[in-house]
Amino acid sequence: MSKGTDQVLQQEVDKRRTFAIISHPDAGKTTLTEKLLLFGGAIRLAGTVKARKASKHATSDWMEIEKQRGISVTSSVMQFDYMGHRINILDTPGHQDFSEDTYRTLTAADAAVMLIDVAKGVEAQTIKLFQVCAKRGIPIFTFINKLDREGRNPFELMEELEQVLGIRSVPMNWPIGTGRDLCGVYDRMKNQVELFQGNDHSTIEVQKVEDYNDPIIREMAGEYLHDQLCQDLELLDVAGDPFDMEKVLKGELTPVFFGSAINNFGVQTFLENFLQLAPKPQPRSSTAGQIAPSDEKFSGYVFKIQANMNPAHRDRIAFMRIVSGKFQRGMSVKHIRAGKDIKLSQPQQFLAQDRDIVEEAYPGDIIGLFDPGIFRIGDSLSQGSEVVFDELPTFSPEIFAKVTVKNALKHKQYQKGIDQLTEEGTIQVFRTVGFEDTILGVVGQLQFEVFEYRMKGEYGVDVQLQRMPFQFARWIIDKDIDPSKFRINSTLVKDKKDNYVVLFENEYAMRTAMEKNPNAKFLDTAP
Ligand code: GDP
Repeated sequence: MSKGTDQVLQQEVDKRRTFAIISHPDAGKTTLTEKLLLFGGAIRLAGTVKARKASKHATSDWMEIEKQRGISVTSSVMQFDYMGHRINILDTPGHQDFSEDTYRTLTAADAAVMLIDVAKGVEAQTIKLFQVCAKRGIPIFTFINKLDREGRNPFELMEELEQVLGIRSVPMNWPIGTGRDLCGVYDRMKNQVELFQGNDHSTIEVQKVEDYNDPIIREMAGEYLHDQLCQDLELLDVAGDPFDMEKVLKGELTPVFFGSAINNFGVQTFLENFLQLAPKPQPRSSTAGQIAPSDEKFSGYVFKIQANMNPAHRDRIAFMRIVSGKFQRGMSVKHIRAGKDIKLSQPQQFLAQDRDIVEEAYPGDIIGLFDPGIFRIGDSLSQGSEVVFDELPTFSPEIFAKVTVKNALKHKQYQKGIDQLTEEGTIQVFRTVGFEDTILGVVGQLQFEVFEYRMKGEYGVDVQLQRMPFQFARWIIDKDIDPSKFRINSTLVKDKKDNYVVLFENEYAMRTAMEKNPNAKFLDTAP
């Protein structure tokens, strides 16, 4: 007898894990991603993901600017299978310059892996990305990388997670020695020792033990390292947080794994634990309440739009996260905002190397939809009832520039370009009150370069960008706004929807303005 469709759907949902890796550049995200993909057999050769960074013609470097700079400007998705699971990794740009895209991509993840360099600890970009995840309350798993190098004390790193990020941690394993002395880790959950062997730490020997006092560890690691391990773990047992699944799922406690991605050490254990602990695809809220993945009616939302992935065509790809039901190639769905039915005929899925046409996909999966210009970020698609998923968050821009067109005759093209690029959600546009100057706000500097490049390449417009000294944007809600109040180290502008926004040069100016206008509300993002 064949299985019921709801049973198949449930099984497909249960086996999926969709997550993003968040880290500061150089922490080893590319290396870790590559190792994870290797476990899944998704790539044949080590170095393939790496090559994406260096090579000029790698698959993910769709945009010219990516090729020139050797970086991945826009996030993409990779899928692989491992031990009965189907895993979707949402890639976020590893470069210092990231964008709203990076942030928004995180809304499509059900969990995050926070990758930290053992020597550097929590860094600037990790903090920003962490905060976005924390706001959603998704579980966060920590991988402390580069254990083969001299690094900081593990207790100190845990302390930093709490101090800087405000999250408690529970080590799932613990290093035996560090840097050159590193000989392995002790797995606290399974009570086993995983040993490195050889200079490159590559061979792993796994030994079951009674507990960390087991004399076998002494034989393997030597007296000194074993004493140290016992001391550390006793302290953790007494003073550390116990493992608490509920807290992990709420994002209040992060399981910590120590390892070395480049030596493939601790990666497999991490992956297997992660697959066991990380949540399967989660419901998303909508106007019709929470939509569960097991809901048989297909639904999904667009969280990212990427233009001209193939420069030969003027196409855009809309990335959709499937929320519920089964997706089938060629199916007709309702495009809620546009109020019409559309046929999803060229869906694509992304492996490490190729874009493949997908025949079917399930909740948690990300598919790329060919977009002739009909999608916007946040669009909901569904089969059956009118489901509109909660609006995707926008983020406060931190970098601003005044934009002018070099050739005034190109104004129409310029306006079209600005409109389309704001629709894609990579830039925010403001107009100064009175002067009608156009000011662009972005989250990362690279977005300006992409903007300039695309205005020229796609719309034939040369623009000039003049950096402005502002650092903060606050949407202001006040009964009567007096522009003269915002002249010192600040300026009053309007956004696309005519909301008033104040741009501030520094935190001091912002605080002063808030104090002087106690009746006004200052918001990080558009109301
Ligand atoms: P990303 O910028 O976060 O993607 O970082 P990469 O994966 O490109 O790694 C940055 C650098 O750190 C590269 O030179 C890697 O070879 C190196 N690296 C990554 N993982 C490890 C590790 O476990 N140990 C050591 N010693 N180096 C590593």
